[in-house]
Amino acid sequence: STPISYVAGLAATAQNGILVKGGVHLEALGQLKHVCFDKTGTLTVGDFKLLKLDVIGKKNERKDVLQYLALMEDRATHPLAKSLVDGIKAEGITIPTSLFVKDHTFLAGEGVLGIINDSKVYVGNERLFRRLGMFESIPLEQRKEVESWEAMGGTIGFMSIENQGVVCAYCVADAPRPEAAQVLKELEGMGINVTMLTGDKKETALLIGKKIGLAERNIKSELLPEEKLALVSEMKIETDDVNPLLALFFSKPRLVLMCGDGVNDAPSLVAANVGVAMGAGAALAMETADVTLMDSHLTKLTYSIKMGRSVIGKIR
Ligand code: ADP
Ligand code: MG
Repeated sequence: STPISYVAGLAATAQNGILVKGGVHLEALGQLKHVCFDKTGTLTVGDFKLLKLDVIGKKNERKDVLQYLALMEDRATHPLAKSLVDGIKAEGITIPTSLFVKDHTFLAGEGVLGIINDSKVYVGNERLFRRLGMFESIPLEQRKEVESWEAMGGTIGFMSIENQGVVCAYCVADAPRPEAAQVLKELEGMGINVTMLTGDKKETALLIGKKIGLAERNIKSELLPEEKLALVSEMKIETDDVNPLLALFFSKPRLVLMCGDGVNDAPSLVAANVGVAMGAGAALAMETADVTLMDSHLTKLTYSIKMGRSVIGKIR
């Protein structure tokens, strides 16, 4: 095929539900060396299911503990939050209207914090509870039980209530997007390096990686948003700094794309040469992105890259 014009390229992508904010981004899409993906909601569907929910200790009624958890997660925006609320409601437990969460705060890469009935309540992952010095206080038997859940490939979390310590543990799981494996294979076939960047635990990230055919060396886990940003920036430096002699062999610079869905992915979307937002869900991600895949279908990413290559006349 012959190279096509910028206008034709933009029209074709728009027709396919891909919002490209200008010809300059199409050009960049045609020159990619690295593609980075967020895991949750990007390589996976982001539709979590609750697999396990255990109350720890005998002091509290299950109903009371789960009401606190539902109150906390009802206010949260992470894709896993809804599965906890839905799972608790499915047990016939309703969110009490007499209680409310004060000062609800998102703890990047860790979970959420809020105040219920004058007590500080934390919900989040192992990293959070290790930082708070509370992880070791979970009874060994319970920690072993939780460890056995890891094989399910789920995301494990806990809740603590001030002066009561850790009161429950849960496991929620999410599935890869059906087209993810095929798209990663295609990207590699196009000579593009693929990396998964995630805030989730290593074990969970590796299990998802295995399902979509991504090697361990291409998976970076347990990252805070600023660490995701740093990795994207490093890849850029690596590709910007092409030695002049080598540059003779590359007719075009080699760029980095970051594809994510969440609000906390916005910094790395900005840092990348091309920032891609999944779906029209997260308004902030969409605003900062150069490209938005309107219906979140990952094949639209490869389509955009091919269109970019066609625009700059680099066909292969
Ligand atoms: P990712 O998009 O890769 O999941 P995030 O930084 O959004 O990265 O989240 C990292 C981790 O923080 C999650 O895997 C989860 O364990 C924990 N987390 C985030 N938000 C919540 C929440 N509302 N409730 C419980 N845990 C949460
Ligand atoms: Mg995310």
